[in-house]
Amino acid sequence: MKHQAVLEKAIVTRIIKTLKNKPHVVVRKRHGTAMGMAGDPDLYGTINGRHFEIEVKRPNDSSSQLTELQTQRLMEWKAAGAITGVARSVEEALVILGLARPVETEES
Ligand SMILES: [Mg+2]
Repeated sequence: MKHQAVLEKAIVTRIIKTLKNKPHVVVRKRHGTAMGMAGDPDLYGTINGRHFEIEVKRPNDSSSQLTELQTQRLMEWKAAGAITGVARSVEEALVILGLARPVETEES
């Protein structure tokens, strides 16, 4: 497995671990299989009755961007009322779910 893929997997694992400790949250990793829907986000779940979908990307890597299909899928979920977002860290996932405030970074 490529190092880059390992890094995204590590972020996914950290996000799941963090969210499992939050009340009123259920989170699941979506496993890419032939039976799955291509382009659907890496993580899904529910927070306080709202469905969420989070695509995880590698941190500090501008080449790690959403594919067109991933963008389309996120928009489908959002249009149907889900909370959606792209996370490159645990902090960003918490912000998407309203569990943390956005932090000022040198990028923003
Ligand atoms: Mg991903």
